[in-house]
Amino acid sequence: MSEEFTYDWNPENYTEDETNWDIHPILKMTKSSVMSYDWCPKKYFYSYPLRLPQDTTDAMTKGTVIHNAYENFFDIYDVEKASTLTKSDLITYNMGLFPVDEWGGEQYWTSANFEAKRFLDLKQEDKLENFLPVGNEVRLDAKFMIARNQNPKFPLTRDYIVHLQGIIDRLFVEDGGLLPMELKTGTWKDYKTTGMRKESAFYKLLIEHCNDQLLIDAGIDPEMKVTNWGWWYPESNYIYVEPVKQSSTSALLKLMAKVIWSYEQSNFAGKYFYKTCAHCSYFGICDDAQNQSFW
Ligand code: SF4
Repeated sequence: MSEEFTYDWNPENYTEDETNWDIHPILKMTKSSVMSYDWCPKKYFYSYPLRLPQDTTDAMTKGTVIHNAYENFFDIYDVEKASTLTKSDLITYNMGLFPVDEWGGEQYWTSANFEAKRFLDLKQEDKLENFLPVGNEVRLDAKFMIARNQNPKFPLTRDYIVHLQGIIDRLFVEDGGLLPMELKTGTWKDYKTTGMRKESAFYKLLIEHCNDQLLIDAGIDPEMKVTNWGWWYPESNYIYVEPVKQSSTSALLKLMAKVIWSYEQSNFAGKYFYKTCAHCSYFGICDDAQNQSFW
């Protein structure tokens, strides 16, 4: 049976009749695909609709290994046992839940300390029930309508239903609301704030438009709202949490509308920048890069 959503999407065949989506699938959007488009629409085009392979880098391998390690950390965490430990024993216990590998070293140590402090803070506040996430690498799906005038600079010919899909690293409960927490294994730089807000806004949208049964199956209370979001960069020992921002959700929606506009117009323009294009897997086939580097 064919999928009812795709990146290899043709807006001319769009239909709202979901019984026809197996023949004329709707557009699939993930946090990664939308952010890839934001980085460079041409790179998105090569990577998603065309599915041209990208080089695997050490940074990608490291990211996958550390994400798996953190997922496992929460899967096997014994809160009752941890609650009896002194601070130094708790750090040792936490460290023992991370693997020994060539990728995580310092990040595991920083994370073991960070999680020990978080655990002890919650214990002191008598809120240990909030230590474990309610969602750990939780995959959600949702349908969402992008309005034709969502982005006035890039108007669409009609409204479109799209399929949102995402895996949320961790979903915590804090002060009666949900807090999606993104793990990043690179180094923190302040200029990343805008992008992280858009990524977090994607998760908020995904949770809010996921159907109740899917949320319940994933262990999430559908009545709970996303009230905060945050990101954790263990490489830089940097954690940031803030209340959700409507302006970031608006920016994300405009970006999503622009993705659709590119499909409608068959226009996925390259964003050439010598520093970043030099590391792009598609440098050799990208005419923007070739023309710019020639001059
Ligand atoms: S080389 Fe640069 S312009 Fe070309 S696809 Fe990659 S990031 Fe975009």
